[in-house]
Amino acid sequence: MLVNNDFKSQFINNYPQHQFHLNIANVNTQALAILFSIDKLGNVTCFDGSAFDDIDIDKNDILNYSIYDTTNPLHAIHPSINMALSGESVSTHIEIKNGMYSIWLAPIVIDAVITGISGTCVEVTKQKDAESALVQIQNHYLLLAEYSTDLITKYTSDGNCTYASPAITKVLGYRPDELVGKPVFHFFHPDDLKSKRRFYTKLLDAPTNESVCYRVRRKDDNYIWLETKSTAVIHPVTGETIEIVAVSRDITERKETEDRLLYLANYDSMTGLPNRALFRDRLRHAVTRAQRNKTCVALFFIDLDRFKTINDSLGHHAGDQLLRSVSRRLKQFARKGDTIARLGGDEFTVILEGVNDPEDAAVFAEKIIELMAPPFKLDGHKIVVSPSIGITMFPNDSSDLRSLLKNADTAMYRAKEKGGNCYQFYTSDMNAKAYEYLVLESNLRNAIQREEFCLFFQPQVDLHTKNIIGIEALLRWEHPEHGLLSPDEFIPFTEETGLIEPIGEWVLKTACLEAKKWQDIGLPPVRVAVNLSMRQFVAKDFVGQVAQALQEADLAAEYLELEITEGFLAYNVDQAADILQDLHKLGVQLSIDDFGTGYSSLSYLKRFPLNTLKIDQSFVQDISSDPDTATIAEAIIAMGQSLQLNVIAEGVETEEQVFFLRGRGCDWVQGFLFSIPLSSQDIVPWLTENFSQQVQFKQWAFWPENGVAC
Ligand code: C2E
Ligand code: MG
Ligand code: MG
Repeated sequence: MLVNNDFKSQFINNYPQHQFHLNIANVNTQALAILFSIDKLGNVTCFDGSAFDDIDIDKNDILNYSIYDTTNPLHAIHPSINMALSGESVSTHIEIKNGMYSIWLAPIVIDAVITGISGTCVEVTKQKDAESALVQIQNHYLLLAEYSTDLITKYTSDGNCTYASPAITKVLGYRPDELVGKPVFHFFHPDDLKSKRRFYTKLLDAPTNESVCYRVRRKDDNYIWLETKSTAVIHPVTGETIEIVAVSRDITERKETEDRLLYLANYDSMTGLPNRALFRDRLRHAVTRAQRNKTCVALFFIDLDRFKTINDSLGHHAGDQLLRSVSRRLKQFARKGDTIARLGGDEFTVILEGVNDPEDAAVFAEKIIELMAPPFKLDGHKIVVSPSIGITMFPNDSSDLRSLLKNADTAMYRAKEKGGNCYQFYTSDMNAKAYEYLVLESNLRNAIQREEFCLFFQPQVDLHTKNIIGIEALLRWEHPEHGLLSPDEFIPFTEETGLIEPIGEWVLKTACLEAKKWQDIGLPPVRVAVNLSMRQFVAKDFVGQVAQALQEADLAAEYLELEITEGFLAYNVDQAADILQDLHKLGVQLSIDDFGTGYSSLSYLKRFPLNTLKIDQSFVQDISSDPDTATIAEAIIAMGQSLQLNVIAEGVETEEQVFFLRGRGCDWVQGFLFSIPLSSQDIVPWLTENFSQQVQFKQWAFWPENGVAC
């Protein structure tokens, strides 16, 4: 039955102060509501409405019946009657036939006298069910929140915390009550504040499922990374945000791993500089910016001169140290926005934006050269390192990223060819030269099989006895197009590519075979000296390789001399000492070639079982004209003598040099004055003649018995 509207208005008029009058006023004609009145004795005097229609209660069982009558369906409200009759408004719930009803009772006051009670009864079963379900759900979630290891928090729409689950203590170190009431932004990392505020505003504007990662300050003032999923709880009627519920997880470890991986993918772990991948990315951006702004980019390719030698001689530890020091100098020098990268090995690049004049790029390159000039201190050694710099300009030389890098690399090689410690701009004809290098490498790879290598031999003479005391084997490459190439033209290249190992092994074997051949044809035995590269010396089982070469040639070990350079000894003193001891035990002679040009730490000379010092020819050349050079040569000879080492001077071209050397006690010599390096065919007649005719030497003016003063 529908509520009669007249009754309704009368009802409302009667109870203007009724706290639920608005609800009543809103009871629309469709609602399952009942309006009723009760007199002072408890009899129901008026009853109208449809709330009981569905539960089979006849209104005639209520109307005119006392509320105190236990058969009255409304009997359950009787405890509230007296309160209402005393002037109070009462609300209560009653259950009738499994249905829940809300009851509102209010006194009827006429002329300040309470004459009865008016009541409203509204069916609320569904609402009650919903409410209890909600309470259950709330309890359920509260339980989850309380026991969850994730941090659950709630905020007002302006960001004040209203709830924090106990997990907060473990995650952030605070107790929940230390956070409640505080503005949440207070705890964010300053760098994340802006993005977090933006997200918050977005969340308030429209529900989103996004999760956000940001840093939050712990109680101990350290920041940790949280990943948070938030949802805004919206009022169903007003559409306003009531609160924000957030679930956060500590992702610091994951973030650190991600950051580390990102770092490793983009940075060189040794120097901390951008690596090749990041360099490419930066170059691409620089080029895009330059295209947009119609400016130029200068790309510098920097390679350290002689780095390989330093690395090989002083060891990888020192090499790494040097690379780090070079990076530090470059970093200090760079402006904000410049990219300095390490592509690998000793190769660095610099991207300079906004350079519109090649002249500016040249000035920059000069500064890099200056920057590298002061010596680097490595493991107690002072090392001077110079750079070779190749420069290419975008867009002048190329607009393609790969070509730009290649051009800069090519230009760098040209700088190296010019002797290093200089810069070189890329020019289009350089590619041809780069191609030549490629061809050289492939030719060198095939040279052993094609038997294009050969040995030349240069005798060493004892000024005292006039005997030939040794013969140095010097490598030559009979290049099919370029003719006979001297080792300086290809040895450095073979050292870089590793080809020196098979080539060096060939030299060793061939030299031993030749020495044995001379003996076999009846010449007095003579020692053959073989030059070694650092890479050979430190290669696996080098000593075994030497033993095998001797064995294969059937040559006694005393007739083999190995020439090593100073760098070998400084490289890894203990390793070098072991190898040299083993070689010494084998019975071969050991000499230090080019003595005086390396990183001479003289202390090592005593540690190794050496036989001979070879004074570098640069000291011999100026011996008679430059007093400083003469002093050095003199000191080397004196030192060699005091250490009981043989001293041989190489590159002896003039009689003056012989006078000088002879006068200072250097008795062994090697140089063009006696013989140029001779081919395998030419050395045999030379030996035959000179072994048998020492008399020829006698005629030379510098022999002591000829009475020439020194
Ligand atoms: P090195 O061991 O110091 O050899 C001496 C170099 O001086 C040789 O040059 C020789 O031809 C040159 N020479 C000899 N007497 C005179 C002279 O009176 N005046 C002048 N101006 N030069 C003289 P070469 O044959 O061109 O060899 C150059 C360097 O190449 C050698 O210097 C050595 O370090 C290296 N080398 C030669 N053969 C081999 C080899 O089989 N293996 C390795 N790893 N290096 C080698
Ligand atoms: Mg030599
Ligand atoms: Mg030498």
